[in-house]
Amino acid sequence: MIEMQDVYKTYPNGVIALNGISVRIKQGEFVYVVGPSGAGKSTFIKMMYREEKPTSGKIMINGVNLANIKNSKVPLLRRNIGIVFQDFKLLPKLTVYENVAFALEVIEESPKNIRKRVMEVLDLVRLKHKARFYPDELSGGEQQRVSIARSIVNNPAIVIADEPTGNLDPDTSWEIMDIFERINDRGTTIVMATHNREIVNTIRRRVIAIERGKIVRDEVKGEYGYEA
Ligand code: ADP
Ligand code: ADP
Repeated sequence: MIEMQDVYKTYPNGVIALNGISVRIKQGEFVYVVGPSGAGKSTFIKMMYREEKPTSGKIMINGVNLANIKNSKVPLLRRNIGIVFQDFKLLPKLTVYENVAFALEVIEESPKNIRKRVMEVLDLVRLKHKARFYPDELSGGEQQRVSIARSIVNNPAIVIADEPTGNLDPDTSWEIMDIFERINDRGTTIVMATHNREIVNTIRRRVIAIERGKIVRDEVKGEYGYEA
């Protein structure tokens, strides 16, 4: 369902971030993307939600080649892909409820359905009781839970996360992982770039290791494999 074929990415400054990537990720998989800083992990996952375009190669998501789609079609594509960032990227002037509802309002869901769905996903991340709070009234872990709720509110087939526990303490990171696991249990594909060695070595899943823009390791129940 996600398939990359011979993907190369050279940034305008000449840096070769991806140097021939081919990979297949099936619906329902949980994949960690690991590797040293600067290896190309972020660029790799940006390809999947068309934040960056490949210089050459194919990126097929559910049969559509993202290398070919027009910029105007990107919002449509992203309805089927949830994205979670290290720094949450919540809208500070909107409440928790409004941050999560936003994606549904854009597609003109009925107010009744919006309310039902937002409360469902806030329940999933255990934040129903903070629906009226603003992001700056929440802890980092709570903000990340809101951003996860936002990422799944449209029921996407895929959730892509770039270092989702990077700003969080260990206990909070485990809570966040528990939520990702529950989302994955429902059949949602998870692709997560991470530097969190304890998590990767404990919750054993597929590990794709990237170094210098190439996949150097791809294991079914892999290990983190780096010192730091
Ligand atoms: P990682 O996520 O593994 O740290 P990145 O994908 O962020 O790696 O970066 C891979 C390489 O591409 C690095 O050398 C980085 O400096 C470079 N790079 C990343 N983004 C850009 C950009 N927008 N413009 C130029 N170079 C970039
Ligand atoms: P809890 O385990 O906290 O009781 P549930 O697992 O019952 O929560 O999920 C609460 C709601 O979240 C469900 O009604 C469902 O619609 C929604 N939900 C759960 N997993 C996903 C998912 N992967 N993608 C989208 N929505 C989901």
